[in-house]
Formats: sequence, structure tokens, C-alpha cells
Amino acid sequence: MSYGGYQKSGSATTERAIREEIVRVGQLMHSRGYVTATDGNISARLDRERFIATPSGLSKGAMSPDQMVVIDWEGKPVGGNRYGAARDLKPSSEILLHLEAYRQRPEIGAVVHAHPVHAVTLSIAGVSLARCLLPEVIINLGMIPTTEYATPASPEGAVVIRELIRQYDALILQRHGSVTIGKDVWEAYLNLEKLENVAEITFKLLQIGRELPFPAGAVEKLLDKREKHGLMLPGQREELEAACGACQLSGYCPSPRRSQVVF
Ligand SMILES: [Zn+2]
Repeated sequence: MSYGGYQKSGSATTERAIREEIVRVGQLMHSRGYVTATDGNISARLDRERFIATPSGLSKGAMSPDQMVVIDWEGKPVGGNRYGAARDLKPSSEILLHLEAYRQRPEIGAVVHAHPVHAVTLSIAGVSLARCLLPEVIINLGMIPTTEYATPASPEGAVVIRELIRQYDALILQRHGSVTIGKDVWEAYLNLEKLENVAEITFKLLQIGRELPFPAGAVEKLLDKREKHGLMLPGQREELEAACGACQLSGYCPSPRRSQVVF
């Protein structure tokens, strides 16, 4: 997907502005219940060699711009972390997952990791979100796959997102949380809102116990739009058609890789 590389026009570009944007998004994540206690983390690309990230051990709702830590590709603090408010703070151990996303998607500018309640609940219940439900989500995110389980804050966390993050901007981490990416912190956060919204609607549909399918031909039109906006990656259309059941209309149904529908 084209995010315009490192030129994040229209979004925070100076280090100070990025720090402030991370703080603002942290407050939103906390106030909307996407993180509990000191859970979750946010990072943004500063330049080709450095990233700004939330430190470990702080509530995302009560951070200050000076507490952000600057790290390198190994997740090690660099530069100004030895002074000021970030002096005694360390980068989150979940930063390996963020760095993997930047490795796999060189065009992105930010990664947001949260523990949204409905998304985590459904992943534990074995209900997949890799299916077609909301028109705008099909256009913008394609679908929302779930990774294999990995121990949080371990190197496995980076391994389980490796393949899926190449194809999709919003993932569920099995029994753990979410990873969303974007051209900047704000866009990565909005993708988190979309993810949890799909999860909440799915949760409510399960309570009601019934659901109407898309009208015939509707999904193809949404996939056409995704293609027109330049968001469709090679091979993805077939995967989405299979996940949506749209292929049944065309008579060609490739087997979906990770679109098991539980209800
Ligand atoms: Zn986590």
C-alpha cells in the first residue's frame, strides 16, 4: 500500500509533534478501554534508523511527551534517553513486534498495539474476524486475520505477525490483543477503532444469534473499490472472495487460509 514513504504529509512530522500525537492517542486508547493498567504500546518512525516508542510500565492514559523513548532497529535506547523524563524508562518488551511490522512494511510510519476487549474475547472463543461484515472495513482493511498464539513480549510475537502483516493493516493476536499499522500514529489508531468496532458488532450478532448475508454482487463492488484505491495486494482478492463467500457466485472458490467462520 502506498503511504508515501517517510514523507508523512498532513500528519505530525517533527519529533515533538510525534511525541505529542503518541500521548494523545494513548489517552484515547485508555479512555475507550482499549488498554488496561500499563498494557499496550505505540511507536512511530522517526527516521530511517530510529523510532519513538512508549516506555514500559506506564498507563497509556497518563504519559507525557518527554517520557517517550527513542530506539534503534534492535529496540535499544539511543540518543537523548539518558537525560530528562525518559532517563529511567525502558522501551516496552513488546517493541520487537513493532520492529517486525516496520521490517515487513517499509512504507508504514506507525504501529499501535492494544488489548481491546471484544477482539480478545472473540479470539479466545475461537470466533474469527477474517470475514466480510462491514462495507467500509472490506474496502479499507480487507479483513482482520488472527495470528497464532505467542507468549506476549517474547520473540515469538514478532514471528507470528510476520506473514500476515505483509498483507493486512489490522491483526488480532490470539488471546492477547491487536496490532494495527498506518502511515502515522493517528491512522494506526483509527485502524484499531475499526478493528474493535468489527469485534463488538460480531459479539452482538452472536448474542442475537442471526445475521443477514450481503446482497448478491455487493462484495464484488466493495472489492472493486479496494482495488481502485490501490489497496489490494497480489493474490488478496481471491482470499477475500473466499472469506466473503462471494466466490460462490462466480463458481470459483479457492480455499481460504484463515477465514474459518464459527457461526
Ligand atoms: Zn500486549
